[in-house]
Amino acid sequence: MRSFGSDTRLPTLAVVLDIIRERTTVSRVELAEATGLTQATMTHAVRKLIALGFVQEVGTARSGRGTPRRLLGLRPEACYMVGIQFDRFSAVGVVVDLAGRIVAQREMPGPADREPGEVVPEFAAHVEAMLESAAVDRSAVLGIGLATYGPQDRDAGVLLTPQPTPAWLGYPLATTLTEATGLPVVIENDATAAGIGVQTLGTASSSFAVVFMSGGIGSGVIIDGHPYRGATSNGLELGHISVDALGERCGCGNRGCLDTIAGPMAIAGRALEDPALSARLGLGGDPLSDFTRVGRAAVAGDAAAAALIEVSTQTLAVATVTLVNLFDVARVVLAGNAFAEFGTTYREALQDVLDRSVFMRHVHSVRVELADNISHAAAVGGAVVVLRNLLESPNLGERAALRPGGEDRARQAR
Ligand SMILES: [Zn+2]
Repeated sequence: MRSFGSDTRLPTLAVVLDIIRERTTVSRVELAEATGLTQATMTHAVRKLIALGFVQEVGTARSGRGTPRRLLGLRPEACYMVGIQFDRFSAVGVVVDLAGRIVAQREMPGPADREPGEVVPEFAAHVEAMLESAAVDRSAVLGIGLATYGPQDRDAGVLLTPQPTPAWLGYPLATTLTEATGLPVVIENDATAAGIGVQTLGTASSSFAVVFMSGGIGSGVIIDGHPYRGATSNGLELGHISVDALGERCGCGNRGCLDTIAGPMAIAGRALEDPALSARLGLGGDPLSDFTRVGRAAVAGDAAAAALIEVSTQTLAVATVTLVNLFDVARVVLAGNAFAEFGTTYREALQDVLDRSVFMRHVHSVRVELADNISHAAAVGGAVVVLRNLLESPNLGERAALRPGGEDRARQAR
């Protein structure tokens, strides 16, 4: 039984759809039991999902002497969503079906120092190529979810940061990508998206925290299946909590931010300051590649590299203790491409520190896990946000009203 607390904005359709996906086939009665919703609410929700073409009746099941129950199943091919997660030096795109399965994926270059006017058409071309490779018709695509760093204004679809160049600050990212693709575009915090992606990919437990590390460090918290969003969806910026009150001034204004000490960019920068290490590892490429080289050297036993990675793991662990102390979660999931190769090193270090330092450790343990799809979870989450926004829209109509090109559809998907 799921618990939904007193949330009055309950996204019933999303919850019902999730359960149908998890169970493959399910009766209306079982759905009502699983959600705690009334039979009437459930019937209404199922009718809507059938009208949208997302769900269909797939047969009957007899239990005892009662009337056979009609079973419902998902139509995974009913619609598709695109997700793109990007930060400065890397980007990954996915196309997922209604069941959350990846049907196309690709690595693409991040913006680096390029202007948005150059990067957005490139993203559009990658979307086109992914849809073509998966033979997905554009009319079946609900939209694109862009998962990226903040601060951001989700309603306006803009980033509120002059990273990587001043032109990105306030650039109409969502609108421009919509114009280039003809598809509705939403933006989402990358760490929150990773949380939504992890949940969708089936390792579901209703409440957990995500520590996300790609170009920078972020975090997300899923509470009873809902992402915690704060006032403006800019909360849980783990990378910008101070772990050294007298530390260096960060671009955000704070001092000694986690990201400036433990993040891949910081580790790469510190490695470059060591000429011997730098020469030994052939550093000087983009920071994410340099970070990867340092991590590999650390695993291979290079003492100087290992010392740098230890700074990263231990500082991240201290910050994660803070995250767990604040939200009292029993599970922390690591996601993001910076964890792809060294996830185990980080997982073990975090688990060790959490076991010794978390405030509620005598009440319950806290498990640190690697996300199943560690490099793609945020992109998948971005795609799922498109669907969730649609299902949570109060004006959600019949499938016919959702055809591309319609103003209604673009508005609903936002
Ligand atoms: Zn900062």
